[in-house]
Amino acid sequence: MDISPIIDAENLTRIYRLGAADVAGLGGVTFRIAPGAFVVLKGNSGSGKSTLLALLGGLDRPTQGRLRVAGFDVFSLNEKDLVRYRRRVVGIVFQSFNLLPTLTVLENVCLPALLAGFPLKPTREKALRWLEWLGMQDRLHHLPGELSGGEAQRTAIARALINEPPVILADEPTGNLDTRNGQRVVEILGTLNRDYGCTVVMATHATVADAVATRQLCLRDGLIVDDQCLQP
Ligand code: ADP
Ligand code: MG
Repeated sequence: MDISPIIDAENLTRIYRLGAADVAGLGGVTFRIAPGAFVVLKGNSGSGKSTLLALLGGLDRPTQGRLRVAGFDVFSLNEKDLVRYRRRVVGIVFQSFNLLPTLTVLENVCLPALLAGFPLKPTREKALRWLEWLGMQDRLHHLPGELSGGEAQRTAIARALINEPPVILADEPTGNLDTRNGQRVVEILGTLNRDYGCTVVMATHATVADAVATRQLCLRDGLIVDDQCLQP
């Protein structure tokens, strides 16, 4: 059976211009990802993982290439539709959490839904459900500065989920966490993949996600050098 891919990238290229020098962040990668996959992006520091995730997230534009995600031709969208894509189609989790420091946990989680135009009451209820599911019910009114790393990352995951995106992108989400909290984050992403059908693309240079991933893409110097199925 031929299942159409949820992510279809063709010759994605990102050259950074630094003065007179060109640095190839991504040297032209072509791949497809099936819906429901859990893809772990591996590769040394500087291999292009963050560059690729930023393109998939619509946070950066390629020098060349095409990208379709969930039916959107991402880089032919106008600015308004690109904002909509970033809010509704992809949920992004970063290594450094990127929570807004002056908003509480609950406010941080609600914000993307309110910006997307959803009304407050159902948004708040949904945020409370996700935060409870993530074990954050006793931290709702804390500020990010009052949270542990694990709690901050679980807040960031709830924020990524609030608009129910079909795709979750995670850039070294365990990089600032101890082993136990890192494993917990991976288990959460694994459950979202298995039980909620989210397609997950997670960059890491560690082996932490190998047990839950269904596929491994290895990058070196901005190119895919290995592509393997994993048995979760
Ligand atoms: P990874 O996430 O795998 O560590 P990156 O995607 O961050 O790799 O970087 C890939 C390459 O692109 C590296 O050589 C890096 O130095 C370069 N690069 C990344 N971001 C920029 C930038 N904003 N300006 C110039 N070069 C960059
Ligand atoms: Mg990186």
